[in-house]
Amino acid sequence: MSLAITDVEAIWLRVPSLDEPCEWGEDAFVVRVYTDTGLVGIGESDSSPSVLAAIVNGPSSHSTCRSLRDVLIGENPLDIGRLWEKMYDETSYLGRRGAAIHAISAIDIALWDIASQCYGVPIHQLLGGQRRSVIQAYGTFIPQESGAANGAAVARLKGDGLTALKFGGGQFGLDADRDVKVLAEIREIAGPDMAIAIDLVYRWKTYTHAARQIERMQPYNLMWVEEPLPPDANADLRRLAQTFPVSIAGGEGLTTVAEFEEFIVKSKPAIIQPDLTRCGGITEARKIAELACRHGTRLVPHGFSTGILLAATVQFLASEPDGNLIEYSQSDSPLFTDLVANKITLFDGMVAVPETVGLGVTLDEEVIARYRVKTR
Ligand code: MG
Repeated sequence: MSLAITDVEAIWLRVPSLDEPCEWGEDAFVVRVYTDTGLVGIGESDSSPSVLAAIVNGPSSHSTCRSLRDVLIGENPLDIGRLWEKMYDETSYLGRRGAAIHAISAIDIALWDIASQCYGVPIHQLLGGQRRSVIQAYGTFIPQESGAANGAAVARLKGDGLTALKFGGGQFGLDADRDVKVLAEIREIAGPDMAIAIDLVYRWKTYTHAARQIERMQPYNLMWVEEPLPPDANADLRRLAQTFPVSIAGGEGLTTVAEFEEFIVKSKPAIIQPDLTRCGGITEARKIAELACRHGTRLVPHGFSTGILLAATVQFLASEPDGNLIEYSQSDSPLFTDLVANKITLFDGMVAVPETVGLGVTLDEEVIARYRVKTR
């Protein structure tokens, strides 16, 4: 079947103005890939929108430093694997990790969206078939200073039927005593049956500090400890993983199967957390999942952006052997709550796998118009 890509649109969204601080979830990078048949694919990357807009829009410099628009226009969007390699090769001067792979991730998701619409079958079927119709969710929130605010967040999660939660960011991880106090409060409010994970976003800087904190937190029965140490601290991460019974998780910032292989081999995490909008898209996430399976490492994708990432992750997990847990953001940013008009919702602490063709997401054009930053 022959289609042709006619344009790639980079959309930079930001809730605060450019001179105001921006929190997690308050900006987003969305792409739309247009074809000569009228089919349009949607993707996103949870990265720096200004950098990614430049990578998509160009202008191109030379054969290994091209804009993704230039790489893709005129190509058949159904050639997903070939186009992944073409994008990778022809942006190689931008570095083989990081932002260029983030931009490729957004395009890759949009190409799967197009392929699914073109063939008229769900993405999970193109990925090998549906293994589950519902996926257990865990809710992620940023803890506040006040115990009452954290209590309200936990109550909201319980109201959605969630039986697992994660918190991190804000001030969490910066003060040893306060961190233990916040965890104790949240465990008290959540009750003994709630699974609780914590996310340190690299804030514990040394093995000694991390080990001490994990010991102090052992009575609160953690589901996992996420990114306790800087991502390059492989030896110390491995030591934590091998010393304590708690699961060490990480990898949301990593790109490509090569980087995940290094992480798994050197750090020995119990859980890897690729973000589909950063790791290289659905195409690369499948390779990462195979790698994780070979090493006996669990895969629980990262997801704290818009309803586009949520929809892509649901399709991916629906087809994965180890795909029974999904992150569900508790962000109140309009880019999470409203950008996708038909965002996948929670019921009884789970999400249902939709039988849509493509991602099945409808973008709210008014939200785009309100928060769009002009790039070209
Ligand atoms: Mg995290």
